[in-house]
Amino acid sequence: CGIFAYLNYNVKRDRRFILDILFNGLRRLEYRGYDSAGISIDSYSSDPSGQFSFSAPPLIFRQEGNIDSLVKSVYKDVASTKLNLEEPFCVHAGIAHTRWATHGEPSPKNSHPQTSGAGNEFLVVHNGVITNYEVLKETLMRHGFNFESDTDTEVIPKLAKYVFDKATEEGDQSVTFSQVVLEVMRHLDGAYALIFKSHHYPNELIACKRGSPLLLGVKELSEDMRSGTSFLDLTFISENGHPKELFLSSDASAIVEHTKKVLVIEDDEVVHLKDGGVYILKFENDKGKCGNALSRPSS
Ligand code: GLU
Repeated sequence: CGIFAYLNYNVKRDRRFILDILFNGLRRLEYRGYDSAGISIDSYSSDPSGQFSFSAPPLIFRQEGNIDSLVKSVYKDVASTKLNLEEPFCVHAGIAHTRWATHGEPSPKNSHPQTSGAGNEFLVVHNGVITNYEVLKETLMRHGFNFESDTDTEVIPKLAKYVFDKATEEGDQSVTFSQVVLEVMRHLDGAYALIFKSHHYPNELIACKRGSPLLLGVKELSEDMRSGTSFLDLTFISENGHPKELFLSSDASAIVEHTKKVLVIEDDEVVHLKDGGVYILKFENDKGKCGNALSRPSS
C-alpha cells in the first residue's frame, strides 16, 4: 500500500541512521492502512575506507502487523546476528514497504520485498496489482523458478532474474539495471509503482510506475547545485558526485520532511538512481520491435 526508499550518496550514514529513515518513512505511510511491512538493507560493506563493494546479499526483514513489530523484529535480529549499527556507509540503498494484501494473506512470506529467490539477487517492493501474474508465474515455473509466496508481486523479481541471467548467458555481461527493468515492464499488465534493488547493482535503485503514485525527492547536501535548473524539467540530471540524499515514495508526506525538491513521476517513466545521478527514462512498449525475452521453453 505504500513504498519508500532512501539512498545516501557520498555522505557517511551509519546503519542505525539508515534504519531510522526507513522506519520513519513507513510511519508516514501508515495512515493509508496496511497489514504488513518490510525493509531491505545491505548486510555489510567489505571496504571500511569509504568506497564500498558488497560481497554479501542484501538483508530482508518482513513482518505481519504494524511498523512497531517490524522494528522489534529487526532489532532482535540485529542483536542475534551482531550486525553493527554504527557501521558507516558512504553509499547505501534501502527500500521499504507497507502492504495491503490483494493476493495472498498477510504473512511474513507474502510481505515485501519479494525476492528472485536464494541470494536475494533482485528485490522488489510493489504497490498495486499485476493482472497477468498467473500466466507469468506458470511460464517462470516452467523455466525452473520456485515460488515461495502467494502474491502477484513475486513474478516481478523472478522475471528480473530471468532477464538478467538470459542476457549474461548470451554474453552480455554489461547489461544495465535499467535494461533489465525495461524488459520486465514489457511483460507486466496491471497497475504498479515498483522499486527494485539488486545484489548485481549495489548502490543503485530503480523505480517505475503505471497507474499508482510515485514521487522522487532530492536533497543536495552542498550548495553547488546548478542554479536555474527547473526540477520539473525531465532532462534534469542531478549533478553526479555531489553529496546527496535521494528519496522515493508513493506518498509525498514521507519525502517533504526531508526535502522540498520533489518530482512527481509520470506513468511509464523509469527513475534510475546511480553514481549520484538521477536518470529518468521513458518506457515505450514496443513488443514487436524488441522481441519477447520471456520465450517459452522448447519442451
Ligand atoms: N498486490 C500486492 C500484494 O498483494 C501489493 C499490494 C499493495 O499494494 O500493498 O502483495
